[in-house]
Amino acid sequence: QSQELSEAQVDYHAALQALVENGTRMVCTGRMHTDRICRFESLCYSTEAEEFVYFHSNSSVMLPNLGSRRFQPALLDLSSVEDHNTQYFNFVELPAAALKFMPKPVFVPDVALIANRFNPDNLMHVFHDDLLPIYYTMQQFSDLDLEARLFFMEGWSEGVHFDLYKLLSNKQPLLREELKSLGRLLCFTKSYVGLSKITTWYQYGFVQPQGPKANILVSGNEIRQFTKFMMQKLNISLEESSSEEYIVVFSRTINRLILNEAELILALAQEFQMKTISVSLEEHSFSDIVRLISNASMLVSMHGAQLVMSLFLPRGATVVELFPYAINPEHYTPYKTLATLPGMDLHYIAWQNTAREDTVTYPDRPWDQGGIAHLDKAEQERIIKSTEVPQHLCCRNPEWLFRAYQDTKVNIPSLIHVIRQTVKSKPGPRKQKWSGSLYPGKVRDAKCQASVQGTSEAKLAVSWQIPWNLRYLKVREVKYEVWIQEQGENTYMPYILSHQNHTFSENIKPFTIYLVWIRCIFNKNLLGPFADVLLCST
Ligand code: UDP
Repeated sequence: QSQELSEAQVDYHAALQALVENGTRMVCTGRMHTDRICRFESLCYSTEAEEFVYFHSNSSVMLPNLGSRRFQPALLDLSSVEDHNTQYFNFVELPAAALKFMPKPVFVPDVALIANRFNPDNLMHVFHDDLLPIYYTMQQFSDLDLEARLFFMEGWSEGVHFDLYKLLSNKQPLLREELKSLGRLLCFTKSYVGLSKITTWYQYGFVQPQGPKANILVSGNEIRQFTKFMMQKLNISLEESSSEEYIVVFSRTINRLILNEAELILALAQEFQMKTISVSLEEHSFSDIVRLISNASMLVSMHGAQLVMSLFLPRGATVVELFPYAINPEHYTPYKTLATLPGMDLHYIAWQNTAREDTVTYPDRPWDQGGIAHLDKAEQERIIKSTEVPQHLCCRNPEWLFRAYQDTKVNIPSLIHVIRQTVKSKPGPRKQKWSGSLYPGKVRDAKCQASVQGTSEAKLAVSWQIPWNLRYLKVREVKYEVWIQEQGENTYMPYILSHQNHTFSENIKPFTIYLVWIRCIFNKNLLGPFADVLLCST
């Protein structure tokens, strides 16, 4: 590895001089440690101290300059999981003059992205916490291109999905442990530290029970741009016109099993008149799974990380998630949230085993595989009697683990029944037109004209022009919403109108000032912005 780095052309003398003279330069985006990404020149890392080092000199820059707030609690999150106290980034400070007494720096010539992977052995975490955030952090900063190098600082070994991380750049990613062999003091010529959280959709329940993130900012379009990139890197072409439709059952082979899988596969094939195939992470290569899922009409799987692969499904496909006994599907929704992101255009169906006789529990396994033998007898009995796991925080709730690692005999008629409530005829990708939803602009040239009749009646004629972008669009239905508010009141009268003018006479008083708010609505639910408020005096 150390050879790999030193092969690149670094004028060592010039680099060392620049470091001593200029010190470290840092400029960050973001207001809080949870939304901050920092760009550094000459950030160093001591592999002995396992600390990043910031060198002060006459030319160094530190923005934001937080003083000791840098430790409250940290400068930034190294992983995309928000505010997790094992994922904080900081550096220690030294004067550049101290370099005289330190090991000779080894310079990293590549532009570096320095981050933590959160849980590289779990496929959901790999995609949601690492791959998507790394991909879009790289999209955010133009010098993080395919020649950039990823540095994973969380301290794990490669993990079973390392090949996926390798797809994101042409250079081999480096792990914290490997840095030691490169030198005692590494200095990154140019680096970015931290990951964008803009694509994450789920919080795992560290401070409140798990659920969708409060403010989701990603849509199916960005997910699919990412999967398109991954499929290109995996050399998988999208078979546009593949004729045969089929169902994929994604099975687990170690735990949380479907006990009657053969029967399930036959029943699905018969019910939907489609070939039904089964895949598993243990028996298929990742590329083969992606190739199969990317053309499937339906993906059926037990709740679990393998379901994150639904991000490779084609638009219009159906995700069927099976939940073991006593696990309320509404409380564990990482895959439902993914499937129902705006623009993902997937159908989502949850089925839960509600029959105690169809579940197989493992009370005697180790606690991390759901065993409960270590609990006191009363607690064991309560858990065994319980019909639903109460909501809980991550990650070691024994009742949750006990139920999550049950095997299930799927009740086929009940499963087919819930699928049929959503999938009426044949499941699967319809040849859809681009259904991207575009929002109207502001209405233009709004005007009002008042007329007063006598001392108690008045009318307000309001007119406006269509939004500028409408003339370039084909829109099924265009409506306008008008709010009329008497100045100084905090209530208003709302109207939905089809034309570009209307004369209001209801509740319009003479010698009064009205505020008129107008916005355009496409296809019932695409609400545009309000135009500047119109002041109308009767
Ligand atoms: N896994 C698997 N087959 C199994 C059990 C687990 O492929 O029989 C994978 C699973 O998809 C995930 C990882 O192993 O990527 C860890 O699984 P775990 O049950 O711990 O997590 P969960 O699936 O509940 O998120």
